[in-house]
Amino acid sequence: MRFETLAIHAGERPDAMFGAISVPIYQTSTFVFEDVGKTRGYDYSRTANPTRQVLEDTIARLEGGKAGFAFATGMAAETTVIHLLKAGDHVISGDDVYGGTYRLFQNVMRDFGLEFTFLRIDSRQRIEEAIKPNTRMLWLETPSNPLLNIVDIEMAVDVAKKHNLLTVIDNTFATPYFLRPIEYGVDLVIHSTTKYLNGHCDVVGGAVVTTSDELTQRVQFLLNAMGTCASPFDCWLVLRGIETLPVRMKQHEENAIAVANYLKGHTGVSRVFYPGLESHPGYKIARKQMKGFGGVVSFKIKGGLEAVNSFLRRIKVFSLAESLGGVASLAEHPATMTHASMPKDYREKVGITDGLIRLSVGLENIDDLIDDLRQALEPS
Ligand SMILES: *Cc1c(COP(=O)(O)O)cnc(C)c1O
Repeated sequence: MRFETLAIHAGERPDAMFGAISVPIYQTSTFVFEDVGKTRGYDYSRTANPTRQVLEDTIARLEGGKAGFAFATGMAAETTVIHLLKAGDHVISGDDVYGGTYRLFQNVMRDFGLEFTFLRIDSRQRIEEAIKPNTRMLWLETPSNPLLNIVDIEMAVDVAKKHNLLTVIDNTFATPYFLRPIEYGVDLVIHSTTKYLNGHCDVVGGAVVTTSDELTQRVQFLLNAMGTCASPFDCWLVLRGIETLPVRMKQHEENAIAVANYLKGHTGVSRVFYPGLESHPGYKIARKQMKGFGGVVSFKIKGGLEAVNSFLRRIKVFSLAESLGGVASLAEHPATMTHASMPKDYREKVGITDGLIRLSVGLENIDDLIDDLRQALEPS
């Protein structure tokens, strides 16, 4: 079955019990045993739940992996995966990963004895120079948040395999509709399902997709031991979102391309970050490894913080809010919002400067979106 069909039919659908076409929400903590030592496949919802199972199977199929796991949030998924490691292990991570990822590594996991090196994953040599005897994991995010930097996945995986590193990729921005990292040899795929997979800004959730039986067992063990799993109702919402993922992603991209082109030609804008623009440094690699460029566009506004604040106060169709990937367009200021947990000098070093604005381009009529940007950029 092809992607669009899997998005609607993967997993146990219709429901085996009564044939419900909409996956039932098994809102239960526990399951009655048929006999001593004999269950109907489920015993306790932390370990596994039938609604969650359909979501997990669906995400695994869409990514082309072995098994999927659904978590309470994207950060719960990341927290679980980083626990595959132990004290003394070293991780190489992209330097412009999601702010919460940076915070988890730097401000939480370091205290448990993990070591991290953050760097721009843009050449084989740079990764190799950072590898130490205790390096175990390479953590990638592409396109990155909020600068939309592109990692050459084939190159990174090749280096990782030579040095026996586990590769993890955060595929939240591209979604499996545009990018299937497992086809390039990545070991684990992570999602914040809060974003495009759910797509309606009404749930926080996460997911992990594995590629081997060993990783499947380890992640299942950790999910159950740490209790990081998603609730049945949240899983149902994400499942409903995924059914329209292909049509949404197509339209997000079409709108984002129009927004990027509009901003590129605006005199109040000094730089536009969108991997679908030929001027973007990652354009060629993005074209090679992705089916599309996604719905997030960042740009640098001229005139410093004053211009940023004026723009953010004037937008009407775009809402001033964190998060992304929903049907409604959002705008945010990474330096003071999503990436405020990064120290200022580090933030500026990686390019997340005060003039940067990130747009999550939604599914409204494109003319209304452009009109809104125009009136917000050109105060009369
Ligand atoms: C939002 C986000 C996360 C964290 O997910 P939550 O669901 O908010 O916990 C991780 N990675 C990326 C790229 C994100 O955008």
